[in-house]
Amino acid sequence: MKCLVTGAAGFIGSHLCRRLLEQDYDVLGVDMFTDFYPKWIKERNIEPLKKEKNFEFIQKDINELDLKDTLKNIDTVFHHAAQAGVRTSWGENFSVYSKNNIEATQHLLEASRNSDITKFIYASSSSVYGLCPELPMVETSPLLPFSPYGVTKLAAEQLCMLYHKNYGVPAVSLRFFTVYGPGQRPDMAFHKFFKSIAEDKEISIFGDGNQTRDFTYIDDIIDANFACIGKGKPGEIYNIGGGNRKNLNDIFPILEEICGKRTKVTKHAVQKGDVPHTFASIEKARKDLDYSPHAQLQDGLKDEWTWIQKLYYS
Ligand code: NAD
Repeated sequence: MKCLVTGAAGFIGSHLCRRLLEQDYDVLGVDMFTDFYPKWIKERNIEPLKKEKNFEFIQKDINELDLKDTLKNIDTVFHHAAQAGVRTSWGENFSVYSKNNIEATQHLLEASRNSDITKFIYASSSSVYGLCPELPMVETSPLLPFSPYGVTKLAAEQLCMLYHKNYGVPAVSLRFFTVYGPGQRPDMAFHKFFKSIAEDKEISIFGDGNQTRDFTYIDDIIDANFACIGKGKPGEIYNIGGGNRKNLNDIFPILEEICGKRTKVTKHAVQKGDVPHTFASIEKARKDLDYSPHAQLQDGLKDEWTWIQKLYYS
C-alpha cells in the first residue's frame, strides 16, 4: 500500500513517515521546507528516511505540484503540510497561512476527487475550538477559533467535509491537541523551555501560567493516524488528545526534576490568539478508532529533553 505524506519533513510528518516505512508501506513524502523554522532541523528529520528504499521524496510546494500525477497509485493521503503557529498568524503573514493551509488543501482535495485514494486523513487542530466554552471539548462543541491560524485550520477542515459530501472524497479529520516529544517544533513551548533550561536562561511565558493544555505525545498521535487508515469513517472528525491536561505552572517542577536544574520563569502579557484552555474528549476516537493514548507526561518530556540535548549540544 502506498501513502502520500504532505509535510513529510516536519515534526509530525517525519515521525509518521518513519512508522509507515517500519510497517512496510511505500511512502511518497512532499515538503517545500518553508522557512518557519531552521531548514537544518527539517533536513535532520528527513535525511534518514531518504535512505529507505520504500521512500520517495519531492521537495515542492503542494500548490505547484502536478497533483493528478502525484496521487497516481496512492491509497492513503496524510495531509500534514501547513503553516503552523498561532502567534505568527496575524498581519501580513496571514497570506502564508491562507496559501499553505487553505489553498493547498483545496488543491489536494480537488485532485483527490478524480483519484483512487481510499482515505484522506487531514491533520486538523484543537485551535478550531478557540474560545469554545465547553470543557472537555467534544467534536460537536461550538467552534470559535481565536486566531487567524485557527480560522485557516477550520476552513481546511470544512473543505474536507465539503469534498466528502459533494464528491465522496473519503476525508477524515483528526484534531490534534498540543503535540510534544522528540522532534517538537522550535516555536512550541516545551522545546523553548528545555532550550532555555539547557542554556541557563530565563523561561518566558505568556499569561499567568494558569492556562491549561491537553498535551499529546507524538507516538499517540501516530497511533491515531494509523488507526484512521482502516477505521476512520469518511466524513467524520475525531479529537486526538493525550489525557495529559495540565496547568502550565504545574509543568515547571516536572521540568526541574527531569533536567536536574532550577527554572526561572518570567511572565509576560497574554499573546493575541492564545486561548485559556484546551481539553479533549476522546470518547469518539476511543470508540471508532480504538484510540487509547499511552504516554505519561513525565516520560514523554524525558524523551523530548534527551532529543533536545542531542539536537543542540552533542
Ligand atoms: P511542521 O511545521 O513541523 O510541519 C509542517 C510541514 O509542512 C513543514 O515541514 C513545512 O515545510 C511543510 N509545508 C507547509 N506548507 C507546505 C506546502 N504548501 N507545500 C509543501 N510543504 C509544506 O508542523 P507540525 O507540528 O509537524 O504539524 C503538522 C500538522 O499538524 C499541521 O497541519 C499542523 O497544523 C497540525 N497540528 C499540529 C499540532 C502540534 O502540536 N504540533 C497540533 C495541532 C495540529
